[in-house]
Amino acid sequence: MSMTPKDVVAMAKEKGAKLVDYKFIDLPGIWQHKTVPISEFDESVFAEGHGFDGSSIRGFQGIEESDMLLIPDPNTAIVDPFMKEPTLSLICNVVSPDMENYSRDARYVAQKAEAYLNATGIADASYWGPEAEFFIFDDVRYDLSQNAAYYSVDSEEAIWNTGKNEGPNLGYKIRNKEGYLPVPPADATHDIRSEMTLVLESLGIPVEAHHHEVATGGQGEIGMRFDTLTNMADKTMTFKYVVKNVARRYGKLATFMPKPLFGDNGSGMHVHQSLWLGGQPLFFDEKNYAQLSQTALYYIGGLLKHASALLALTSPTTNSYKRLVPGYEAPVNIAFSARNRSAAVRIPMYSKNPKTKRIEFRPPDASSNPYLALAAMLMAGIDGIKNKIDPVAEGFGPMQVNIYELPPEEKAKVKSVPGSLEGALKALEEDHAFLLEGGVFTKDLLETWISYKYANEVDSVRLRPHPMEFKLYFDI
Ligand code: GLU
Ligand code: MG
Ligand code: MG
Repeated sequence: MSMTPKDVVAMAKEKGAKLVDYKFIDLPGIWQHKTVPISEFDESVFAEGHGFDGSSIRGFQGIEESDMLLIPDPNTAIVDPFMKEPTLSLICNVVSPDMENYSRDARYVAQKAEAYLNATGIADASYWGPEAEFFIFDDVRYDLSQNAAYYSVDSEEAIWNTGKNEGPNLGYKIRNKEGYLPVPPADATHDIRSEMTLVLESLGIPVEAHHHEVATGGQGEIGMRFDTLTNMADKTMTFKYVVKNVARRYGKLATFMPKPLFGDNGSGMHVHQSLWLGGQPLFFDEKNYAQLSQTALYYIGGLLKHASALLALTSPTTNSYKRLVPGYEAPVNIAFSARNRSAAVRIPMYSKNPKTKRIEFRPPDASSNPYLALAAMLMAGIDGIKNKIDPVAEGFGPMQVNIYELPPEEKAKVKSVPGSLEGALKALEEDHAFLLEGGVFTKDLLETWISYKYANEVDSVRLRPHPMEFKLYFDI
């Protein structure tokens, strides 16, 4: 149901809001916000915007004009469940003072990607189901002052893992890779996930199920029902906000960092996706392998052909590549398969209903900016359909066997995902024309993304002595 500015003003009144919170996304993907008292809020903000200093926002620097404006989207109005005073919350787009959409506003990129899909005539809707996994920890420490970083994790479950036991040992600790799916008390974070689920539902974000994930350390997953692209990216931001803030209520902390624990599974954000036209699903054909239509196959071809470049946006942190290694259900192969979790594209086979036919792209994680990640996947898929990229002819599968167990000469033929953020950024530098189609991504945005990631992440990790280097080399 679509809301008008007038509806939102009425809603603020009805809910007794004393403040209004404007939320928007920085380039790397963290929500930022500004808050006004209700006396400052009326319908005019939806046309005229609310000002902020764009030069202090990550990834927005370098713009001549630092005065920027937030334009709230009336359809995103909710009452923020974590602010003490009754506060209406709105997700915003970023525009310049002359009301031009800002090219580094990721939400705008997502909106353009949806418009571009329509313009191609291939489909008029895309549906997205990201599965953002996370850990719930009791404590985390790091110390960069010594030019070295370390972290300690004292989660009730992770104590077993780390060998630490500073409190009473209540037993039933989940062992490495055994978190899926024992009941409480082993599942020590059940109640926290239940509360997260109920908060999400109260905000109009339907949940299909929640469960403990494979790793220790309270690794969890809460599955949201699919939605269209920009809506789903908005919901993913709200999801992360809810997960982190409910964990805080329990005095714990939730992290979407892709690989916080060595030797155990990491947290992915697999993304289920499908295209529809005129109310009909486009990915189903009973006759074919895994009941995939030709359109779905070409879409997969696009995802896999551009996978290395795509990962610079879907798995965009140095830590992402500590997750994308063999043995932890994270994908390492640029291939598709109906069963194999080591393939970048998995075709879920739970149902034979054409309406639920979808493909799952497994490399992404929630360290991505979801607007950019979803938009980039759609652009790769569209490119595959437009250019009839056949994943079978390209040698991407289908993989029927466990790729980890193939003989070495067979395994060598299967391409792997990049081994580092640097590798993915290099791939993006070389392969990005598919993102620029229809003006969805701009050269400015991609260049800013790449230079931001090198300067702030690749280099700052590369230049620091690692704790493991002390173990290996200190007494050399
Ligand atoms: N945690 C695994 C990953 O890193 C995925 C587990 C699953 O298949 O849900 O992708
Ligand atoms: Mg999972
Ligand atoms: Mg999955």
